[in-house]
Amino acid sequence: MDSSKSELLKSLREYLTDINISRVLLVGILYGSLEVVGLILSTLGFFESDIRLPVSMIVLFHLIYLPLLLLIHKDRLSLEVKYKSFIALIYFPVILLWGGYMNSQSYAAGGAVTVYTIALMVVSALIILSPRISIPFYLAGFVFFTILTYGTVENPKEANSLVFLGLIVTLIGFSISRENFRNRRDLFLSDQRLLMANIKLKDKTLRDSMTGLFNNAYMFEYLERVIEQKSPESKELAVLMLDLDHFKAINDTYGHAFGDKALKKTAEKMLMMTRESDLVGRYGGEEFLIILTNTTRDSAQLIAERLLKEISEVELGNGVSLSCSIGLAFHKRQTGEELIHQADLLMYKAKRKGRNRIEYED
Ligand code: GH3
Ligand code: MG
Ligand code: MG
Repeated sequence: MDSSKSELLKSLREYLTDINISRVLLVGILYGSLEVVGLILSTLGFFESDIRLPVSMIVLFHLIYLPLLLLIHKDRLSLEVKYKSFIALIYFPVILLWGGYMNSQSYAAGGAVTVYTIALMVVSALIILSPRISIPFYLAGFVFFTILTYGTVENPKEANSLVFLGLIVTLIGFSISRENFRNRRDLFLSDQRLLMANIKLKDKTLRDSMTGLFNNAYMFEYLERVIEQKSPESKELAVLMLDLDHFKAINDTYGHAFGDKALKKTAEKMLMMTRESDLVGRYGGEEFLIILTNTTRDSAQLIAERLLKEISEVELGNGVSLSCSIGLAFHKRQTGEELIHQADLLMYKAKRKGRNRIEYED
């Protein structure tokens, strides 16, 4: 499985887990409260109940489980997704087993599978689980329901018919759950695809179509952001402006297409010579800009010197070689615009001093 696919599946799992947790919380609070009310009313003698002990157990379970789930929901426990998902899923077998049990106690003898059906429908519609994980739950629920039914219903024919009905509702529950999962998964995947397409589109508007480097609008925006976030202790931030020398003459002599090829090769070289953290952009025609973040004065100067040398060695054919003039400015307290302007002035100084050279800030 390639890494982007496994990343996608991981975020699908996170997404489903978050949905499951909030739904289980909602139903858990509703159902738990109803059982508490039932317990109080039967204790006060409003109705008969011979299952007060097991009901107390399920109430106790809710009292422990729901606060735990609430903490997870509010991200107070910072658990890994697999543990979060496991805890959310505990509600599934508990409710299914509880439904089977209640059914055998109160309704089985009357020939109905009401409580088991309600429990099944609630978990199938509520909890979104991949069939791979939910099949064992449905199977266990049904086996438990069958055992309890044969254990409590004396008439074997009545028990057979109850178990048969139990099987039908289990299968219906499973189909609902599978459909539920598939819909959610497809919705999630198409959302993700749209998101990726948007990112790609946005990336296109940030780049220069010929060289693939960032355009100057993005370089400005990025520089302002870096300056805004820069702490006084962080390393230097430098801006390098590079302009190809006598490029008009190259165009005039060898043609525009040859000039374009030279620009592309220069861009490739600049990308090769810089670090991942440096941003390389095309500032204008044959002018390039590099934003060097977290650098030192020495390493920025070294990059400038290497660029000067490597660009003069780019193979263009026809025995043609390029040279460039570079201005290198370091950030103190200027705005992004001022810093770029300073690098530009230094680059022009290099031009005036004879080209094929670097001018640093004093
Ligand atoms: P200098 O050393 O002073 O920088 O001289 P220069 O000739 O490089 O500077 P000038 O500003 O006079 O000319 C820049 C030339 O760059 C003009 C233009 O034909 C060329 N140019 C700008 N953009 C492109 C492009 O996208 N493709 C090609 N082939 N040439 C371009
Ligand atoms: Mg030029
Ligand atoms: Mg120029």
